[in-house]
Order: sequence, then structure tokens, then C-alpha cells
Amino acid sequence: MAHDAILEMSDVHHPDVEFQPDGNSSDQIFEGGTGLTYRDYLVLPGYIDFHPSDVHLETRVTRNISIHRPMISSPMDTVTEDRMAIAMALLGGLGVVHYNNTLERQVEIVEKVKRYKNGFIEDPIVLGPHNTIRDLDMIKHKYNFSGIPITEDGTRNSRLIGIVTNRDVDFEKDRTIRLSEVMTREVVTAQEGISLVDANKILKSSKKGKLPIINESGQLVALMCRSDLKKNQEFPYASKDSQKRLMVGAAISTKMEAYDRLDALYRAGVDIVIIDSAQGNSNYQIQTIKYIKKHYPSLEVIAGNVVTTDQCLNLIRAGADALRIGMGPGSICITQDVMAVGRAQATAVYYTAKFARKYGVPVIADGGISTIGDLANALAIGASTTMMGSMFAGTQEAPGDYFYENGVRLKKYRGMASLEAMEAGGDKRYFSEDQEVKVAQGVAGFVVDKGSMMQFVPYLVQGLRQSFQDMGARSISELHEALYSGKLRFEKRSYSAQLQGSVHSLHSFTGPALGGWEQNNRR
Ligand code: 5GP
Repeated sequence: MAHDAILEMSDVHHPDVEFQPDGNSSDQIFEGGTGLTYRDYLVLPGYIDFHPSDVHLETRVTRNISIHRPMISSPMDTVTEDRMAIAMALLGGLGVVHYNNTLERQVEIVEKVKRYKNGFIEDPIVLGPHNTIRDLDMIKHKYNFSGIPITEDGTRNSRLIGIVTNRDVDFEKDRTIRLSEVMTREVVTAQEGISLVDANKILKSSKKGKLPIINESGQLVALMCRSDLKKNQEFPYASKDSQKRLMVGAAISTKMEAYDRLDALYRAGVDIVIIDSAQGNSNYQIQTIKYIKKHYPSLEVIAGNVVTTDQCLNLIRAGADALRIGMGPGSICITQDVMAVGRAQATAVYYTAKFARKYGVPVIADGGISTIGDLANALAIGASTTMMGSMFAGTQEAPGDYFYENGVRLKKYRGMASLEAMEAGGDKRYFSEDQEVKVAQGVAGFVVDKGSMMQFVPYLVQGLRQSFQDMGARSISELHEALYSGKLRFEKRSYSAQLQGSVHSLHSFTGPALGGWEQNNRR
């Protein structure tokens, strides 16, 4: 019986059997003038002859930079600063640092990412011999760690002369005693440049809690902690530059101040700049792209945001290395309602990706992605990478503190054109920083705690791999070939099909309705 079934299958694929594929080509789906979102269509299943682990998600962010995971964190002040950018790069994606800050602060964030070495704390808290045990107590109270390196002048730039741990001070009643009197002077150290593996070996064999890393002059350059030993995992898919430093992007505006930022960011080692504008088809943006290409030819430039092919053409002609697609689909955006301008996101991604492909320029689907299905859909219609804000905003690595509301752990997430963010400088994106009356194009809200990016991104990756398996594609390039050859088939969903495709007809249920991480992760 099983054998017969196999024979019948091979008959179906026999060239002599007339075969009419189901569904529609992508062109048929998007024609007709109605804007579609990711939820308005489905990809029809393909043929599975491989395991999800065989799916490769390597992709191009720009003409010349590839990463292993098609995910970028948005340049928003509640999404991407150093912790997020480091996590994204370690996990194979990319973080783009926002510009709602001073030039100095943005450069500091970029430098932190570029200097980051997995497992090594590059900016450890240090004290000096003149500090007292009480100072140590205060650090312990605030950060909950002890084991503080002592340097000659109490800054990170001077020579290491000792270390002070709990064991040096716990029986001491007089907390005003200077650390010079209680610190341990014989310190096990390692030299700058040591590998993570070798440093871990020293930590294990020395049985010490901390391993200070020093340079040739004996100055402290980093610290390793025994408590982090188990966490010091390897990241084989990390996004790295030619010098093996983590990659990072940064946003700039099209204003005059952008030129200073650009120069400082370039010198700090930024890999990619995004010209962050809500409507990218402008003379300002074209001039900025040309300026960057002339003065910093090695720097990759992502231009946008755009949603139509003629917008794309202008930016590609100016020299853009990638395009950021989206006007109004974001979870915090109100542009389409307030401005009456924009485009439904799937339609925008489909047409712009198809067009930019002719020029070898990849596109980023930016905004409106809140499930693994949205992610897969964006890639299936031609996006090379995706950019997300709300998806990552509630994670530990996003800026901001958690708080509780009705027992739910939340973090703030705000649009860069919310009144709140504009007041802090985010209006550079909306050509409105010199306007007296501010019209918001975004809102400020809250998102649920999503745990750490270290678990969340692998969860998204696993979901994506399974989705690719269902679609019958082993890689993003294979998926795009199937898309443009007409092999990948689509079908529109009626409203009732959408309802039926979600949980329905139950009195109640447990488990994640959208395969959602929040539900999986809720504590
Ligand atoms: P999300 O992933 O939350 O759906 O969307 C994030 C994207 O929304 C960002 O990458 C950016 O393109 C866009 N965005 C950020 N802030 C605002 C805003 O205040 N208004 C609008 N219209 N778009 C925004």
C-alpha cells in the first residue's frame, strides 16, 4: 500500500503527466491594486526532503555584507543600544544603534560593540587602594557582585595592584579601613589577547572567582568571572568583520549634524550606516548617500524608508547598498492614519524587492512583524532581511527597566515619532525637528517581558527553519529563486479563512495561539 502510494507520487511528478500547479504566482497575488499585509495571503506547502536543521538562513544585509540570520534590530531608543547590538551580532543578526542621543553617546555604544569580546568584561568596575570597605559594600549592594580589581589610581587606565573579594573583608567590623590594607596582592592574571578557551582554563585551574586581564604595562584591560564560565558559550554564527570584531550598524539623519556623526561613527569602526528617514525619497537623502559614497567608499549605506519602485530607483542611483522598506506598518506607527501616505507592507516589500533585485540591491522588510509567520512571509516575498522593533523591545537586552502592571512584567516601547521620543530628538527622522507644532506619527506603549535574546532569537530561528521546511526551501536564496520562477505558490485568504486559520471554536484553551514566545515564556 505504502509502495503504491510512492509510485503514485512519482507518477504525479512525471513529465508526461499534465500538471497544473495550485494557487497563484506572486505576481497574480499582488496585482489588482489592493495593498496586502502578511496576513492576507499564505504560501502553499512545497515538497519536503530535508530536515529543518538543513535550512540555511544566511543572507545579504547590503550589497557586500552577509549575516547568518535574517534579523536586524531597529534603530529605536527603546530597542537598540550596546547590549542589544552585541546580542544581535553574537546570534548572527545585526543591531542598528539609534541616534536619539548625542554624537558622543552613539559613538560610545558603537565602540562598546566593536570592543566586545565574548566572556570578557571590558569595562569592569574598579576601586583604588584609598577606597574603603564601605565603598566595596556599596558596589555589592548596587550590583550584587564582589571581587573588585584594585588599580593604582582607582581607574581602569592604571596598573593593577590587587584584588579584593568577600573573603578579604567579611570578618572585618571596621568598614572604614582602606582597601590597601585588606586586598590580596598576589593576583592570578592573564595577558591581553588570550583566547576565551585559554582564559577559561586558567579560571578553572586557579579556582579563583575572577581573572583580571592585563596589558604589557600591567594595566587592567578586562575581567573574567567564574560565575560566567557556563554562560561563555561559543557563537558560531556571530556577525563579525574582517578583524573578527562584532558587526554593528548605526542610524544617522539627513541633517547637517549627520556629517559629524558619520565621521565619528566611521572612526569608531561602524560597519553599516542607515539613513533613518520616514520618507526616504528626498533630495536630502540622495545628497547624504552621495556624500558617504564619496568620502567613505568602504562604508555600506542602507537608505530608506521607501515603499515604491520609483523611490527605490532614486536611492539605488545615488549609491544605496540596501533599502529599508516600510511606511506605516510598525506596531507603534500611526503614519498611515495621520498622513494618509504609506503602503500595505507585503505589497511594498514584494514590489520593491523584485525591482531592487535587478540592481543587486537587497531589501529589508521593516516593521509589522510580530510572529514567525510574518517573518517567513516577508522573506518569501523577496525580503533578504527583516527589521523588528516590538518583537525585540521587551527583552532583557533592550534599553529600559521592567515594571509590573496587574502582575504582568512590562517594558516601555515607543515610536520614534511619538511625542515623547520626538521631544528627546527622534523627530530628525520626520523632518519636523524645526517645527513648532509637532504632529505625532507614532505612539508610546508597553510590551511584555520576552526574556533574553539569547533564547528568543534561537526560538525564532527554529520556527523559521520549520516554516522553510514546510515551504520546501532549504535557504533564502532557494526561496527567492522559487518565488521569481513561479514555483512558489500563494493564495489569498478571505477574512473567514483568516479566522479559521487562528484558534477558534473552543471554550478555552492553553498554549500559545500564535506560537508566541510570550506565552511560552510567561513566568
Ligand atoms: P515594529 O517592528 O514595532 O512593528 O516596527 C518598527 C519600525 O517602525 C521601525 O523599524 C521603524 O521603521 C518604524 N517606526 C519607528 N518609530 C515609528 C514612529 O513613531 N512612527 C512610524 N510611522 N514608524 C515608526
